[in-house]
Amino acid sequence: MDLIFNQAVTQVELSGIRQFTYMVRDTPGACALTIGEPDLNTPEVIKEAAKAALDANDTHYPPGNGCAYLLEAISQYEARAHGLHYAPGEIIMTVGATEALFASLSTILNPGDEVILPTPAFGLYEALVRLRQGVPVALPTQHSHFQIVPEELAAAITPKTKAIVLTSPNNPTGCMYTKDTLDAIHEILKDRPIFVLCDDVYRALVYTQGYHSFAEYADMRDRIIVIQSFSKPYAMTGWRLGYCMADAPVMDRIQVFHQYAVTSIPSFVQRACVTALQTPTDDVVDIFRKRRDYVYKRLVDMGLKVEKPEGAFYMFIDIQKFGMDSVTFCTRMLKEGLVGVIPGIHFGAEGYMRLSYCYSDADLKEGLDRIEAFIKKLSA
Ligand code: PMP
Repeated sequence: MDLIFNQAVTQVELSGIRQFTYMVRDTPGACALTIGEPDLNTPEVIKEAAKAALDANDTHYPPGNGCAYLLEAISQYEARAHGLHYAPGEIIMTVGATEALFASLSTILNPGDEVILPTPAFGLYEALVRLRQGVPVALPTQHSHFQIVPEELAAAITPKTKAIVLTSPNNPTGCMYTKDTLDAIHEILKDRPIFVLCDDVYRALVYTQGYHSFAEYADMRDRIIVIQSFSKPYAMTGWRLGYCMADAPVMDRIQVFHQYAVTSIPSFVQRACVTALQTPTDDVVDIFRKRRDYVYKRLVDMGLKVEKPEGAFYMFIDIQKFGMDSVTFCTRMLKEGLVGVIPGIHFGAEGYMRLSYCYSDADLKEGLDRIEAFIKKLSA
């Protein structure tokens, strides 16, 4: 029988990152530098808080947007740590940042609406926009050290532009937008009816001074949606917990989508989220900073071109000089060099590969030795 599916769903492929990751996993003897999650475990105190909540039978339907004590804790944490002021009623706990992004885009997009995606970008955005029958508009930044060029942003805006997604620090580049870049973006957007989704899920993993989020431009508060996650700073990827924050009228609509999509996040994890917000991340930042310095030096010493990342845990490496597309390069490096990284095309940028340094020092050394040997062989 011919069954007709939703057209948008039919046209979206499964994540290229995941597919390549599976190929690496299934290659015997391969060393993977692919994964986008901390190799550390969730801190014990956070796990204990969830266990205690379970034992106290905190297992019933919680309020749709999240428990009042957690929304209050997030409101205070964001004000204290980031200077962002959102009332508990302007926050929704979501199933990871993924649901926060999906609920936000679902709330604002009509079919045909354009969303500007500075590239390279996390592949999720393009898929979500397409699933909502929106039109992703790529804004390449490879030629400008991964900063948005104001004139190019202005030129990408049309009457159909509904939103832009800003990811800082960025996946896959690890770069952060400078204050100058943000000021220039603000100047262009401040009088336009365009939403700004600030995907700041890596903001706790920053290795330099001077981080700024677009969320700080309070005069645009009515159009800003902040996306956050517990996944990265607290090694809680499997818990699937995130949140979004927005001006009350925007949140009033996002909660409709959220309620009918998932009802709420689970109940007994919410006490653990409060504990997570009280858990220092300095040690984790130190670990990743050391790894970043090691990996960056190794890559530069090999003669590879890469921007020094200021946050997150990725390196986005220029491989254009090898004269191959990124899938061919990464597939050959996997098969011949037994080391796996993700092709840049999966982030909308050909001629690059993404290396993750969410691995032990020994694994990183081994992986980098193999990359070095492979590129030496190519150049021989
Ligand atoms: N945004 C970015 C930039 C990411 O890299 C990721 C995860 N890789 C997400 C959102 C989704 O995170 P979560 O686990 O909270 O759904």
